[in-house]
Amino acid sequence: MKLLSIILPAYNEEENINLSYNVISELMYNNSIDYELVYINDGSKDNTWDRIEEISRDDKVLAINFSRNFGKEAAIEAGLKMCNGDCAVVLDCDLQHPPDMIISMYRLWEVGYEVIEGVKVSRGKESFVYKLFSKIFYSSISKVTKFKMDKSSDFKLLDRKVINELNQLPEKNRFFRALSYWVGFKQATVEFEVQERVNGESKWSFGSLIKYAISNITSFTSAPLHLVSLIGVIYLIFATLLGGYSLISYFTGNSLEGFTTIILLLLLVGGTITLSIGILGIYINKIFEEIKSRPSYIISKKIHGKTKVKVYE
Ligand code: UDP
Ligand code: MG
Repeated sequence: MKLLSIILPAYNEEENINLSYNVISELMYNNSIDYELVYINDGSKDNTWDRIEEISRDDKVLAINFSRNFGKEAAIEAGLKMCNGDCAVVLDCDLQHPPDMIISMYRLWEVGYEVIEGVKVSRGKESFVYKLFSKIFYSSISKVTKFKMDKSSDFKLLDRKVINELNQLPEKNRFFRALSYWVGFKQATVEFEVQERVNGESKWSFGSLIKYAISNITSFTSAPLHLVSLIGVIYLIFATLLGGYSLISYFTGNSLEGFTTIILLLLLVGGTITLSIGILGIYINKIFEEIKSRPSYIISKKIHGKTKVKVYE
């Protein structure tokens, strides 16, 4: 019988551990699917890990505890590395990704699809500013990556072949949502409605979302660097025109005018140069991080249901 791994990153989700465990276990039992639940506690500050330890009495649970908060991308990466399934689905443990959809995804996998993505038909309850920014972010990232990502989510089911490919990637800065397109393979989509969060609250602040957007765009594509070069070319054209104009003014005796123009040009040029250096800086920082080659997460404890092996204790 085939094994399905269900990967659940959890950060401050103490109320959602038992809930997700019960809902998913029942669902798998009712549909006669052999499964394992891979819970990754991403350095929660509440009792999430205690709840996970409790349910790890069930030998279907593989529990992983990070030494601190490393972020959802790292949790997904760890889940994919540790899972044992013939396929694996990544799911938010706040149940905003409806577990029922796993069955539709699994059926598509059974008929031969290798990457099955949950596509959001509604974005759930989100503020206007959040919606606007995510629209800007996804339309720009779709443009530069050529992947249609506007309704994309981390809710995906992957075949073992795909998991192995992702696990082999050496990069530390990962963007799971885009990488799963990048790997290729036979892709399918399943539509779902983002559910209301039952317990707890979203971990995203406005600042962390902006950081997430910048980090993901720059770790996935060098398009912003090309933009800097393009701005350079546009400058050169303007500089040539304006230079010509200034020379003509000089020879015709009108060169003292144009104080405002100079101020505006200085501000504009200064601003754009600073921005360009900033963009370069972000990429240099990425190179620096990759070169340091630090792991993207550290595991302080791992419990596998049946054998209860604890490492690094
Ligand atoms: N999460 C995580 N590490 C983090 C932040 C979030 O593992 O640093 C998990 C979180 O527990 C949840 C999922 O990622 O299972 C999605 O997070 P959240 O619900 O806060 O995001 P939203 O649904 O608001 O986009
Ligand atoms: Mg959520």
